Amino acid sequence: MEEPTLVIIKPDGLQKSLTGNVLTRLSETRLVLIGAKIKAVPRALAEEHYIHMKDKPFFEEIVKYLMGDYHTKRVMAIVYYGEDAIKKIRKICGATNPEEAEPGTIRGSFGRITTKGVYENVIHASGNTGDAEREIKLWFEPEEIVFDQLYPTKQTTVSHKKKIWA
Ligand code: ADP
Repeated sequence: MEEPTLVIIKPDGLQKSLTGNVLTRLSETRLVLIGAKIKAVPRALAEEHYIHMKDKPFFEEIVKYLMGDYHTKRVMAIVYYGEDAIKKIRKICGATNPEEAEPGTIRGSFGRITTKGVYENVIHASGNTGDAEREIKLWFEPEEIVFDQLYPTKQTTVSHKKKIWA
């Protein structure tokens, strides 16, 4: 099935200049890039992204990790599209725990476990179709995606101040 998936190169990946390595590995899938940006992550976005983990004892730590409190305050968010995109990308990422991830995977190559016990595993990738939809809608506006009607959209009128180049 052709499907989209969300990838986030987490702050440790940017801090360690791993974006090139990660993108090279991901490009082996031949999936199509339909969105990409560098983004600062406010607390509300990090908490919403990890909402399914909110009862875990390490929730606050992974929120801080995604916000960049321990590295640089930015991530790279990417949307790939294509046949079995979710499975193909997760395979290259490797297991959640970097010590259990195969050595050739992104997490196996570049991840680590901190002394506080957080898995600093360099990359996030959507786990299933439902998560991909929720996460893509959380991280991207429709006009940031170069793909016709990835999900249904509607028109709305907004009137607010906007920053433009001076
Ligand atoms: P994945 O990112 O592989 O989909 P989860 O959604 O289960 O995994 O976890 C979200 C993130 O929380 C992981 O990528 C990792 O950074 C961190 N994490 C998950 N499980 C643990 C754990 N047991 N101890 C420490 N950190 C964890």
